[in-house]
Amino acid sequence: MPYKLYIPGPISVSEKTLRAMTQPMIGHRGSEFIALYRSLTPALQALFGTKNSVYLATSSAWGVMEGTLRNVVRKKVLCCMNGAFSDKWLDVARRCGLDAAGLQFDWGKPVDPAALRAELAKGGYDAVTIIHNETSCGCLSDLPALAAVLREFPDVIAIVDTVSSFSAVPIDQDALGLDIVLAGSQKALALPPGLTVFSVSPRARERAATAPARGYYFDLVEFEKNHEGGMTPSTPVIPLIYALRSKLDDIAAEGLDARYARHVRLNRIVRDWGYAKGFKLFPEERFASVSLNCFANTRGIDLPALNTKLKARGFLIDGGYGKLKGKTFRISNMGDETDATIAELLAALDASLAEIGA
Ligand SMILES: *Cc1c(COP(=O)(O)O)cnc(C)c1O
Repeated sequence: MPYKLYIPGPISVSEKTLRAMTQPMIGHRGSEFIALYRSLTPALQALFGTKNSVYLATSSAWGVMEGTLRNVVRKKVLCCMNGAFSDKWLDVARRCGLDAAGLQFDWGKPVDPAALRAELAKGGYDAVTIIHNETSCGCLSDLPALAAVLREFPDVIAIVDTVSSFSAVPIDQDALGLDIVLAGSQKALALPPGLTVFSVSPRARERAATAPARGYYFDLVEFEKNHEGGMTPSTPVIPLIYALRSKLDDIAAEGLDARYARHVRLNRIVRDWGYAKGFKLFPEERFASVSLNCFANTRGIDLPALNTKLKARGFLIDGGYGKLKGKTFRISNMGDETDATIAELLAALDASLAEIGA
């Protein structure tokens, strides 16, 4: 039986989006593609809160997370770590041969602005990585507070992963002075995986232009040159770009404020359901994500058994990421969810919990 994904990415993709992907192929250097590419920029800029160029990369988010490091780190990068993805970013920086240090917090705790300031004040850093919404533990850091600290260190280029918050939570790149902000297609945008959108400041590109080993595939200078012509450096994943076009139309029809408010509302409904069932949130509640809920498995329920029952009803949730497997469970409310679809999920969860005697 087919089942609907409530794991925090990939999430389910609407029929409309899937149909958009099946349009006839076009050449990526022709006028149709250039018109398509250029039509995306204003809506993407509104979602990023920026006037910067927004680029499209044919890769999952990690491609851009790695590639931007190779473009902007000349001295040393500080990786803010509070979960599986942000921890991994330090590892990725080192695998690129870069000088890198970690600023570590417990999983479920936000990145602390005072600790960031204290570490950067030691000197020697020229870049920082931050994950806005740590999907592995459902923790949303205070981006405005962190950005205020970063503005005290003008030589430090900020690379911010908004992979699971983009289009679910407002992002104000220009107001916050963030240099590079990136998001993948399979999270809140509810597209299939394989496309990453990212917005880059002129000063990040200036830094990139001086980086001798920035490579080609993620070269920010190449991205800008091609962007000016309404194109990507290499052949892009055109079906996903059709899907993005369709999704940006959906977002415009709903309106940004309504979209953000819907994510807050549905997130709260799922959270209240969890509380009523006797679960606690895993992250500190003040910093809990708006696009998913990560519950601590405080009742020690058999999560694989729960998911087996859920799947039979047409749903799947996540049974914990990495070292939190079995200890937490995560439910996404990203994408196209409505009050009605969330109510269906919660009814299936109730029935499935009852069936496993929990
Ligand atoms: C999913 C996710 C990623 C990794 O994305 P890929 O698509 O696997 O490259 C990175 N960061 C965050 C916060 C994520 O949620």
